[in-house]
Amino acid sequence: MPNAATFSVNGRTYHPPARPIAVICLDGSADEYLDVALARGRMPNLARLSVNGWRGFARAAMPTFTNVNNSSIVTGVPPSVHGIGGNFFYDTTTGQEVMMNSAQYLRVETLFPHAQRAGRKVAVVTAKEKLRDIFASGLISEGGIAFSTEKARSAVLETHGIEDVEALCGPQPEIYSGEASVYVLRAGAALLAAGRADFLYLSTTDYMQHKHAPHEEEVVDFYAAIDAEIGKLLELGAIVGVTADHGMNDKQTAEGVPNVIYLETELEAAFGPGFRVILPITDPYVVHHGALGSFAQVHVPEGADVAAIQHWLLGQKGISECHVRATGARLMELPEDRMGDLVVASGKDVVLGRSTEYHDLKSIAGPLRSHGGRYEEMVPLLFSEPLNAAYAARGRADVRNFDIFEITCNGTHGA
Ligand code: ZN
Ligand code: ZN
Repeated sequence: MPNAATFSVNGRTYHPPARPIAVICLDGSADEYLDVALARGRMPNLARLSVNGWRGFARAAMPTFTNVNNSSIVTGVPPSVHGIGGNFFYDTTTGQEVMMNSAQYLRVETLFPHAQRAGRKVAVVTAKEKLRDIFASGLISEGGIAFSTEKARSAVLETHGIEDVEALCGPQPEIYSGEASVYVLRAGAALLAAGRADFLYLSTTDYMQHKHAPHEEEVVDFYAAIDAEIGKLLELGAIVGVTADHGMNDKQTAEGVPNVIYLETELEAAFGPGFRVILPITDPYVVHHGALGSFAQVHVPEGADVAAIQHWLLGQKGISECHVRATGARLMELPEDRMGDLVVASGKDVVLGRSTEYHDLKSIAGPLRSHGGRYEEMVPLLFSEPLNAAYAARGRADVRNFDIFEITCNGTHGA
């Protein structure tokens, strides 16, 4: 039976029940995806879970990007505390654009080594290798497991806590596929069935959601496959918690043309040279989104009139928010020392770019769907068990997607 010892991390105390726990982050799962698949009868396990357990909404962390929200989920704190406000930030002291996909930028511990020390068998599976370093931080030396679909074959005991993943979970799939995500859940179920884990974090990738709107057959089939794997976890006795890192929206005109505001170009035309626009969605997986999202950090030239630039930006059609650094840090819970002078968010169907030369729109496979702003902030929150009174009240209030481990551990048992 799994260990039910209590542990505390980053100001939260976790009381896991003596049952396996599986927390799932379905990357890019706007609630519409679940709704369409549920309405078509393609997610019978999720339907059962909605009736017998709990289904609602949670608010993600801003900006609504993958590594920001995954970092929040595994630490239980907002980006202002864990330090990861995007894939990139501009270090003004060195003049370098720094990529933050490694644990060295994480300012707090994850909850995983603490769960492992409390006697749980922790395993973390992610689709993309870029998140693995953050998830594995401090965990492998405690005896836990962390690997990615993308590099499943190269997992070794010393650095991943497991080897021969393909023998246990099946052949490693192609990263640009729906299967890359289904494999994450299948691996979780295999680890659970083999007695290798009883405290799981399973984090998928949003390749399918960038490519397909919720009503499209391919993505409905994808959610059906996800549902079958959730069914296996439930059959194995796991308490399952499901959320998403962010939603996903069309970012193009009705005619199918990408709706892009090229901020660096526009700002330099209006105010002169010297602007640096950081798009924190930028990562090595550009076929997903062409590095275009609904959020940007703007570094203005030395001596520029920040208030005048902010006023001008707020007057541009498609820009929904623009804050100076201190206000943005407070309203969006961001790490102030890794921000620009201004933060900008764009509307539901609008993305922000640097310049036309910087983005290769031809690299985008299919229509432009992306995320990063407020319109991708509300995400599904589901539990396989009814919530106790205290956590049901929390669930109806301003609950966050990074409350999910606490609620799965503490809210699904007791009065
Ligand atoms: Zn994501
Ligand atoms: Zn994405």
